[in-house]
Amino acid sequence: MMEIIKCCVCTIEFAVNEDFFQMRKRDGEGFFCPVGHKQHFSENEIDRLKQENRYLRDRKEELELHSQMMKHVANGYKGQLAKVKKQLAAQGEVEVSS
Ligand SMILES: [Zn+2]
Repeated sequence: MMEIIKCCVCTIEFAVNEDFFQMRKRDGEGFFCPVGHKQHFSENEIDRLKQENRYLRDRKEELELHSQMMKHVANGYKGQLAKVKKQLAAQGEVEVSS
């Protein structure tokens, strides 16, 4: 997967591979746009990405919890449905035999 970076000087957009992107994000080292303008992830950018990361992680946990809950609910309904089916079957037997 490639990450698109926009030069903050000339606004040219260029792609770097994800490893490069992650490394520069981590070490804050500079690199250059194709035209030759120096780029680096500013502290703000790094903070922003960290925040975004945290948000996405929280959101993921939230969704996992939600999906577990939904599974639980679905299992509950399945159980109820089985019970109702059994009851109906039993009633059917009663009607047939009477
Ligand atoms: Zn540039």
